Amino acid sequence: MKLYNQLTKKIENFEPKNPNEVKVYTCGPTVYSYPHIGNYAAYIYWDFLTRALEFNGYKIKRVINLTDVGHLVSDADEGEDKLEKGAKREHKTVWEIADFYIKDFLENYHALNLLEPHKFARATGYIKEEEELVDALTEKGCTYEIPDGVYYDTSKFPTYADFARLDLENLKAGARVDFSSDKRNVSDFAVWKFVKPGEDHTMQWQYLDKPGYPGWHLECSAIIHKELGETIDIHTGGVDHIPIHHTNEIAQSEAAYGKKLSYFWMHCDFITIDGQKISKSLGNVYDLKDLAERGFSPMDYKIWVLQGHYRGDRNFTFADLAAAKTRHLNWRNRIAASYQKRISDNKEAMDKITAAVSDDLNSAAAFAIIDNSKLSTSDWARIDQLFGLNLINDSPDINDEVKQLISDREEARKNKDYAKSDEIRDKLVKLNITIKDTPDGSIWQYLN
Ligand code: AMP
Ligand code: ZN
Repeated sequence: MKLYNQLTKKIENFEPKNPNEVKVYTCGPTVYSYPHIGNYAAYIYWDFLTRALEFNGYKIKRVINLTDVGHLVSDADEGEDKLEKGAKREHKTVWEIADFYIKDFLENYHALNLLEPHKFARATGYIKEEEELVDALTEKGCTYEIPDGVYYDTSKFPTYADFARLDLENLKAGARVDFSSDKRNVSDFAVWKFVKPGEDHTMQWQYLDKPGYPGWHLECSAIIHKELGETIDIHTGGVDHIPIHHTNEIAQSEAAYGKKLSYFWMHCDFITIDGQKISKSLGNVYDLKDLAERGFSPMDYKIWVLQGHYRGDRNFTFADLAAAKTRHLNWRNRIAASYQKRISDNKEAMDKITAAVSDDLNSAAAFAIIDNSKLSTSDWARIDQLFGLNLINDSPDINDEVKQLISDREEARKNKDYAKSDEIRDKLVKLNITIKDTPDGSIWQYLN
């Protein structure tokens, strides 16, 4: 497979260390509010990465984290903890907020038919490992303590700017004058925050003789080390993670353990809606429920996501989602037709589909091949597994009652009893089935 790698800024040949255990880590959600469709697009792309790797014969060990502490409103270690903010908004405890939004996230995750990872890792389950990581960094001389917390001194990591091609001089010049003035460098970041006197921070742990909590970036480094080991094969996230979060994960892990953190780093681009950023003020923060209210299923949305490229500009409109829904129905009906007409396997098309998805996950090209090829039921089963679309589960073969109705209708038509044939057609419509009379006989199709 060929994949784009942010580490080298090139498309590269992907060769895992061990094909029987390809280690993949995905930065997951901060569980303090309902994720929007843009967030779910990220999880759809990385689910497809996993499926494409499996399609190519690899076995995957994948971990996704759930951030339930330490992610502050601003990425610059300032402002409120997002979980505390959620708790105040909803008059609940932070633990209730975390549990509630984890449950909601997992429900949607399953509704989208995304593969279960080896583990969903909650940040608060790794506090000991996070403290050990801070200890290791401190032992190596990479941290310093200020009243606000323990900070990573990024000047101690010579390649800090490389991953995101950061211009540190410009960053310094552009920094607000009053930025946490005790920091030594503008790019330094908190690995551990101290609870300030009088600060209302429910989640806190006694470490370094004071109550405190981990910095956001720390959890991913600690979880990866514990669950997957020192070096993984692929690390994924959104483009927003490149300049801060992933840059900081690399600095922490590589300084503490002296090993490369990940061979490949992949990032998906952001989705816009009607040409605009997804934002509360624009009222376009749609979630899967909003789509359902307009008659679109999670699989309709998944098809919309996968008909574009993870690194491409993606602009969501309801008109395009309607086109994806039409494609979805069309594919289910082509599966229905494939077993009625006993279409034979199409190796050439399947090879082309494999080549497309192996070319930096070009699902759009694969979809075009699917649209233009005759495919057998077993080809469709493989396609269904590759994209996780539930096409076959959602399109069961018709039951005996429907089969009987279809043959009764044919009988009535032969006898020119059109009143009866129309009556049966209406019955079938109620069962979501329509009959199409084609040159090579009539076939049944789904209405929706
Ligand atoms: P968060 O819960 O805010 O940390 O975000 C969860 C994931 O969604 C991250 O991987 C982000 O990069 C990603 N993300 C956020 N907004 C968008 C968007 N508009 N389009 C695609 N991905 C997004
Ligand atoms: Zn992360």
